[in-house]
Amino acid sequence: MSQRNVLVINCGSSSIKFALIGEGRSHFLLSGIAERLGSAEALLRVRDRESEDCLPIPHAGYAQALARLLPLARLAAGGELYGVGHRVVHGGEHFTQACRIDPQVVDTIRATIGLAPLHNPGALAGIEAVLQLFPSMPQVAVFDTAFHQTLPEHAYRYALPDELYREHGVRRYGFHGTSHRCVSQRAAALCDLPIDDSCWLSAHLGNGSSTCAIVDGRSRDTSMGMTPLEGLAMGTRSGDVDPNLHIHLMRTLGWSIERIDRLLNQESGLLGMSGLSNDMRTLEQARAEGHPGATLAIEVFCYRLAKSLAAMSCALPRIDGLIFTGGIGENSALIRSLTVGHLRVLGFALDESANQTRGNQGRAIQAVGSPRVLVVPTAEEEMIAVDTLTLLG
Ligand code: ADP
Repeated sequence: MSQRNVLVINCGSSSIKFALIGEGRSHFLLSGIAERLGSAEALLRVRDRESEDCLPIPHAGYAQALARLLPLARLAAGGELYGVGHRVVHGGEHFTQACRIDPQVVDTIRATIGLAPLHNPGALAGIEAVLQLFPSMPQVAVFDTAFHQTLPEHAYRYALPDELYREHGVRRYGFHGTSHRCVSQRAAALCDLPIDDSCWLSAHLGNGSSTCAIVDGRSRDTSMGMTPLEGLAMGTRSGDVDPNLHIHLMRTLGWSIERIDRLLNQESGLLGMSGLSNDMRTLEQARAEGHPGATLAIEVFCYRLAKSLAAMSCALPRIDGLIFTGGIGENSALIRSLTVGHLRVLGFALDESANQTRGNQGRAIQAVGSPRVLVVPTAEEEMIAVDTLTLLG
């Protein structure tokens, strides 16, 4: 049988990230990003193992960018694409797992736009563009929220009047589900534990960050809520604040909802606290040079992360291990060390020399006597490709 290739697409608010994945291959056949879509500077960056190309696609939207990308992907796949897998951020309560895209699924994704106005319109535009360009191409949607549909009601409900949930879907949904699912499976394999009898704390730390409690392969609690703003301090997002902050800013400073939205989503987090950058590498460097804002931002980030992990432990019957993943979790020995330093009450301690060792394989970094602490690279694109192949049979 010829090899099956899947194009994984992640449509953001003005970009499309993509990866062409061949079944059983350990590297991407093609990957890249179409960025600044809709502007005169729109670009399609395409990388394969040997080279990187940068194609100007002025004023291209999702459809035009995909019209350029899909033939390139077909070529790199040796002429045939088996299917397209889309990352969709919000599946509401409708989707508990990945599903094959048909007109009804498209309508249901459209109906969840109100819950994810920044994220779902991009995914929908990508799905519709592929449908239009290649109507017979099989497509699958993989939802960030789906893994968290196993949360018990006491974990997903807000302490708000019932009708807001029943009539308007106001509840906690959780995100980064594909990553938490991926690293918990990889952690279980790494430790020779059956995934269906294992208990994990997981910290996905990238530009957006979240924690998750996973029991027997199922999410039992997570730090993000109705939107990806709840929970940890992130690159530019505040995470949890006193909900009265909105009212306070309106009353005392006369701020509009749009201004507050920008503050909490784009101007806060590591960027807001440091006054310098949302990039952890820049902040680590600045901290080493004595920058007070960077030092504070890192301290708040780690303390809040540790507090969230301790809270997540309430959802576990026991702890088989703590997993760090995402750009920061996989690469920053400093963040792991400061965070685990706040978790001594749960018995966690690091072997600092193992923590400092770099590597792109999953590995254990705990001290003797501590519950496991693991660094596990996430592979969201591969998970989406596997889900796509599974659904397309
Ligand atoms: P996204 O959420 O956009 O997928 P990533 O998972 O790639 O983001 O994570 C990006 C973050 O990872 C940035 O803050 C970046 O600084 C951080 N990061 C990447 N490499 C390192 C490193 N070696 N040390 C510290 N932070 C790192």
